[in-house]
Amino acid sequence: MLKIILLGAPGAGKGTQGNLISKKYGFPKISTGDILREAVKNRTPLGMKAKEKMDKGELVDDEIILGIIKERVSREDCKKGFILDGFPRNIKQAEEFEKLGIEGKELAILFEVKDEEIIRRLSSRRVCKNCGAIYNLVVSPPKKEGVCDKCGGELIQRDDDRPEVIKRRLSVYKEQTEPLVKFYENRGILGKVNAEGEIEQIFNSVCDIIGQYL
Ligand code: AMP
Repeated sequence: MLKIILLGAPGAGKGTQGNLISKKYGFPKISTGDILREAVKNRTPLGMKAKEKMDKGELVDDEIILGIIKERVSREDCKKGFILDGFPRNIKQAEEFEKLGIEGKELAILFEVKDEEIIRRLSSRRVCKNCGAIYNLVVSPPKKEGVCDKCGGELIQRDDDRPEVIKRRLSVYKEQTEPLVKFYENRGILGKVNAEGEIEQIFNSVCDIIGQYL
């Protein structure tokens, strides 16, 4: 059992690398952001509660998030391991996650990217409305403009990838999420990756780190 935690600012590549890790090692990727966006799309009670915070770039309440995580990691497909993308987002969530007492090795991977690069990436990010595939109009554009290579779905800009919200998300990251770097460093389970290169090159570094834990 390997619990992999992807850490890093929004736009650092956690989603993209998480998908690649999932494909190679067969662990499910659990993205709290994806789960929340799906709930917003379907107008469920959870979605209604989360939407206001998400639109502002703020964090959704810990209780809601912890409920989602507890349910998700208890499923059968998580028995051999899982990848957490976007969780934990603050110390409280990390502590509550530890309290779940899930047996197995734990590894946090930090994706390091400079602020200017983050802003550039988020403003040119597009996602598939249908399958959630992630594109960057500059670095990894789709073959046909506005259309997903994988499923033909429509590519859209996330509501929270607009410039006003990007700024807030970055400051929320620095205030609330960045302290987790020390938290996992202190536990001796943090691996750092320079996340500014090519996707494949970054993935190689990620695999080197995972290889040391398997
Ligand atoms: P993400 O896709 O990870 O960037 O998440 C998008 C938005 O969902 C965030 O800006 C938060 O509003 C919310 N969110 C996602 N994961 C969490 C979490 N672990 N704790 C609190 N809010 C979250």
